[in-house]
Amino acid sequence: MEKYYITTAIDYVNAKPHVGHAYEKIAADVLARFYRLLGRKVFFVTGLDEHGSKIEKAAKQAGIEPQKFCDQMAEEFKSAWHSLDISYDYFIRTTEKRHYKASQEVFSRLQAKGDIYKSSYTGLYCEGCEDFVRERDLDENGNCPAHKTKPKEVSEENYFFKLTKYKADIKKWLLDNPNALRPESRFKQVLNQLDDPELGDFSVTRSRASLNWGVPVPGDDNQVIYVWLDALTNYITAVGFPDDTKTMDQYWPADLHLIGKDITKFHAIYWPAMLISADLALPKQVYGHGFITVEGQKISKSLGNVIDPMALAAEYSPDAVRFALLSCTPFDQDGDFSKEELIRKVNADLANNLGNLLNRTLTLVQKNCNGTVPNVSLDKDWTDQLGTLRANFATHMSRLEFAKALEVTFLMVDSTNKYINDKKPWALFKEGKQADGEAVLYTSLEVLRLVTVLLYPFIPNIAEGIWSQLGFEKTIAEIIKAQDSIGSHDTLFDTIKTGQLTKLTGPVFKRIEEPVLSS
Ligand SMILES: [Zn+2]
Repeated sequence: MEKYYITTAIDYVNAKPHVGHAYEKIAADVLARFYRLLGRKVFFVTGLDEHGSKIEKAAKQAGIEPQKFCDQMAEEFKSAWHSLDISYDYFIRTTEKRHYKASQEVFSRLQAKGDIYKSSYTGLYCEGCEDFVRERDLDENGNCPAHKTKPKEVSEENYFFKLTKYKADIKKWLLDNPNALRPESRFKQVLNQLDDPELGDFSVTRSRASLNWGVPVPGDDNQVIYVWLDALTNYITAVGFPDDTKTMDQYWPADLHLIGKDITKFHAIYWPAMLISADLALPKQVYGHGFITVEGQKISKSLGNVIDPMALAAEYSPDAVRFALLSCTPFDQDGDFSKEELIRKVNADLANNLGNLLNRTLTLVQKNCNGTVPNVSLDKDWTDQLGTLRANFATHMSRLEFAKALEVTFLMVDSTNKYINDKKPWALFKEGKQADGEAVLYTSLEVLRLVTVLLYPFIPNIAEGIWSQLGFEKTIAEIIKAQDSIGSHDTLFDTIKTGQLTKLTGPVFKRIEEPVLSS
């Protein structure tokens, strides 16, 4: 059975999850569910980055120990992801004891390679970035452009990693494997960064005096492992590094590191360099997605537009939120999300287009075929169209073009509604042309069957509702679980069975009432 190991960025626990965090987890969940449909053995990991000075500070402000603070935040994140039906297989936390061991092992391996050296360093450090920033990158007020805060001048003795030794290797890896870093714009950006002579060795530790909340450096009590070496290592801790070599061999290298575009450099340069030094394989793909703005504005605490994903899911249903977020904008670019657009999109596509096709088809099947799937075989033209849909959908998914995958699916729903309008099966039955009427209904049932399977990764609850109304006895989730043991996905992609009893039990998705605007 082919595996699929997908990770998200681990979120920093200094603040509660917002809709921007949710966006990435939903995208990863859609991919995980899609590859489970295809019969791959999926391991989907998300979790939390729990070290660093910001967290130490936030815990202090809350008047509790850092570990307790992290434990509380971990519950917040887990609840948020459960409310959105994020089906992760493992939730990693960098305060796990085995992660300490993994980070220390990576450090020791780099050291054994001769790639770690001690040096004193003076630089401008931005706590928001958890990184040193260059003077010329600051804004006109001398602030970090991303965080609008003044970086501190820091001077201390740290351990450094010889990144410069691996720059040529990384460049070769990318040029030989353009798919290793997507989308295209991020690929070009990283190649430029690799050519920048200022991209030098980087610090992998901090002194205990400036950072206490972290993984201790093996053999040096005065230093802790610096945030990036610690955080990036989570991807191998989760698959058992260093002790569980069986799991590590099964899943590593990762098939996809899904991350926000702002941390591409760390994932496409720092991380591969550390992996080469540690004699570990490189990830198959790093994908740096665009950001969501809310009602036209960047999501930020100070702007007060942080939308709680749990509240959103409670108000509109998890499926509506998942669907709206991934259809609102191309995943590689920045785009806007608004409640108004969510309501418009789910009403148009889910309630009207898809809901209408399901409802009218099943009503006609009840009335004219005793509720059972008629005994017809699909004509060649429709067989071809559905084959093309399935292939195009898979291509878009492999490129993380979620909005396009949804678009081709809903074009099929749309054209099937038009087909029914044209063929008028109700009139065919009235005229006694039973076989002709049944052929139209069978076509529509087959479209609904395939569309439901394809939409399941995006809208799992609605898809299960439609699946059940189409008369399948086992749920999609049950079928996936069963195929895990037989290593096959044929059942889900089989044509709908003649004689299967459909169940018209009301709308699977209700229209969202649009709020009445008061003047
Ligand atoms: Zn910053």
